[in-house]
Amino acid sequence: MLDNVGTAAPVLILLGPPGAGKGTQARVLEEKFGLVQLSTGDLLRAAVAAGTEAGLAAKAVMEAGDLVSDEIVINILRDRLQDDDCAKGVILDGFPRTTVQAEALDVLLAESGQKINAAISLEVEDAAMVTRISGRYTCGACGEGYHDEFKQPAKDGVCDKCGGTEMKRRADDNAETVASRLEAYHAQTAPLIAYYDGKGALQTVDAMGDIKAIAGNLSAIVEKATA
Ligand code: AMP
Repeated sequence: MLDNVGTAAPVLILLGPPGAGKGTQARVLEEKFGLVQLSTGDLLRAAVAAGTEAGLAAKAVMEAGDLVSDEIVINILRDRLQDDDCAKGVILDGFPRTTVQAEALDVLLAESGQKINAAISLEVEDAAMVTRISGRYTCGACGEGYHDEFKQPAKDGVCDKCGGTEMKRRADDNAETVASRLEAYHAQTAPLIAYYDGKGALQTVDAMGDIKAIAGNLSAIVEKATA
């Protein structure tokens, strides 16, 4: 993306606490609008699995539910944004999470002649988050998300999308870590709502209801913001 100065590929940000549905909705938008979902959580988990220097530094922090350092996350995102596929436009899922990251993103985008089309805040109640997070799992092959209570595959243990049979649960999706992650969200990430409101880029969506209904509302916002 950084090489495509002036192409004005869309840049969307999904804001919201852990469990708000950012990843689920980003996948829907990715398919519908031909954009690329960029999840810093996924990038960090890949770095941990690969045992890179950044991954080694991030592992314990992620397991505790705290935020990884701005430096590590900004570097990982900057590298990923340089990949060719990002020229189609991106949906940032889980980045930025601090004001330092938001400011770094503004600089990165300005360097490539781009700007944020919309920062969409997924509004949810904290009380629902523990149930949402502790019941979720994904297909190990394609990443499709499922939930013990809210979204089961048609055939138990088999992915509806790709037929994969290896389902994964995240190490940090447990009640204790969720509490720290929510705390980090309120202390460090929630101030970004005012940050983007101040730039006239903020949109909000009620994210407590049905996944498909929320996707419809989000799509309408994205259509307008990228028109
Ligand atoms: P997520 O998959 O977005 O829920 O992120 C999982 C974990 O990765 C978080 O609890 C943080 O420890 C770390 N992480 C992901 N994105 C960021 C970010 N933008 N800044 C700091 N830490 C992050």
